[in-house]
Amino acid sequence: MNKRQCQPCTACCDGWVQIKVKGCEAYPGKPCPHSTGNGCDDYDNRPVDPCRQFECAWVQKKSTLPIDLKPNECGALVINKILIWQGLKVDLAVPVGRKIPEKTLTKLMQRAEKEMRPLIYQQQDPSSKMLEKNPLTLAYGPPAFQQWVLDEQAKGRALW
Ligand code: SF4
Ligand code: SF4
Repeated sequence: MNKRQCQPCTACCDGWVQIKVKGCEAYPGKPCPHSTGNGCDDYDNRPVDPCRQFECAWVQKKSTLPIDLKPNECGALVINKILIWQGLKVDLAVPVGRKIPEKTLTKLMQRAEKEMRPLIYQQQDPSSKMLEKNPLTLAYGPPAFQQWVLDEQAKGRALW
């Protein structure tokens, strides 16, 4: 049995990662209407995609993310299965809030170095009080990786 359990985290239901649930979009500032903030009010009827399928990197059975990086506690939600760059698995970290707390970001950067996992992380634009649907996207890793992320963004290409 997986010792890591979601409750009471609802970070992925609350729009910090963009999802579409039964045709309804959730994104920063717009949670899924079924999220109660500590659970789902329609749990038995939740769809397979994305609700039953989605697992952040922290909750996975063989997760290598430290136990103290649970999204609702550390302020970052890590997705580890959607992007590969030059054969290396990339971690994508979205803030649960406007910005990933410094302490958490430092741990994610240390993990990137130790496990050779380039990191893409996001934060809301500090010059805007609004929550943007698409936060700023930053890269941490080899210079060639950082340049690739910049180039892809300049070309308007989606990274994932
Ligand atoms: S962000 Fe992770 S731990 Fe939190 S509810 Fe979603 S899958 Fe579970
Ligand atoms: S339907 Fe429930 S499980 Fe699915 S995103 Fe909404 S709150 Fe989360």
